[in-house]
Amino acid sequence: MSKFSSYNFARQKALIRVDFNVPLDKKTFTITDDTRMRAAIPTIKKILNDGGLVILMSHLGRPKEGPEEKSSLKHLVPHLSELLGGTTVLFANDCIGEQAYLTAGMLRAGEVLLLENLRFYKEEEKGDEAFAQKLSKLGDVYVNDAFGTAHRAHASTAVIAKFFPAEKRMFGLLMEGEVSSAEKVLHNSAKPFTAIIGGAKVSDKILIIENLLERATDIIIGGGMAYTFMKAQGGKIGNSLCEEDRLQTATDLLVKAEAKGVCIHLPSDSVIADKFDAAANTSTAPSNNIPDGWLGLDIGANACEQFSNVIKRSKTILWNGPMGVFEMEKFQHGTKVVATAVAEATQGGAFSLVGGGDSVAAVNQFGFTDKVSYVSTGGGAMLEYFEGKVLPGIAAVKD
Ligand code: AMP
Repeated sequence: MSKFSSYNFARQKALIRVDFNVPLDKKTFTITDDTRMRAAIPTIKKILNDGGLVILMSHLGRPKEGPEEKSSLKHLVPHLSELLGGTTVLFANDCIGEQAYLTAGMLRAGEVLLLENLRFYKEEEKGDEAFAQKLSKLGDVYVNDAFGTAHRAHASTAVIAKFFPAEKRMFGLLMEGEVSSAEKVLHNSAKPFTAIIGGAKVSDKILIIENLLERATDIIIGGGMAYTFMKAQGGKIGNSLCEEDRLQTATDLLVKAEAKGVCIHLPSDSVIADKFDAAANTSTAPSNNIPDGWLGLDIGANACEQFSNVIKRSKTILWNGPMGVFEMEKFQHGTKVVATAVAEATQGGAFSLVGGGDSVAAVNQFGFTDKVSYVSTGGGAMLEYFEGKVLPGIAAVKD
């Protein structure tokens, strides 16, 4: 059993760093997507069921100059109580200071206290020690359940951990799930291991591809970034997305892959359009011979088959980034086909991890969320993990 699951929180004040950075309606401040709040509920419930007291801290938005109405966590209180089946949720309009300490002191077993936005203090993002120590005084145990901010060395995500002894700092259930899925893919992958990398820019994905060259057997490259690779190999790509300053990088990655025996799969054909528009005229073309004036906005039928075959024979799959402009109906087929192949491989026993903002959005939009092994909640954190970086939020709790 994990450290968190085996810990008895009875009468303990658990200070939990959650990621409640949810989008709010600009006028009414109502929550427009509560996914991040729902993700933290199992951790909170376990502590409450043990007879513990829960103190939640989070950031929300990007406040620049201290407190502001639109970034106040008070807007989340009613919905949080509802998600917890009517549990009393108190609110402290400061995350440190007298009111926070007094309210935490009044808290009874089975109740929840939500603290005001951590980022109303500049010290949070600066990783200020004194601020972290003040926060730490609120709890007996520190639980980090905010994978979305694990790549930041902020006061509440990393620095605070040192003020708790090793047996009183731990990951929550969400963080445990994220870390164990990511570790399974990166350090314990059954082979063949296929990484599917898509999205707009090569520059965003260079480090992840480089790190995966050490671990994957196959790397599928789709989306807008594929055309930089096509051009680097002498292809004609029309008006497709291209990062001219990354042509050499693309060539270097292909050379490195060959030297390491990693198979890079580029889309042999593309769905092309005469403009970047949902209502554009479309056609198909080899991805390395796109007519002038046209641009590749999705992978073509042959590429769909080529990629599906690779995916279906894989035992481990990592997917980051869509295969085309999936937000437009005419260019979402390739991403759907890849999602279907990942689901099929998963059903056949493969372990599949989907992570990174847009691939998660695509998997949700097409209804594949329950058909893959794990959907990561952390975009930036997940990318940095797969780039091989040590995430401060993980290291601080583990050390
Ligand atoms: P990223 O955030 O780098 O994963 O990129 C995701 C974005 O890439 C999505 O908004 C897609 O619409 C976009 N995208 C995918 N394929 C293409 C393409 N062929 N041309 C232009 N944009 C694309």
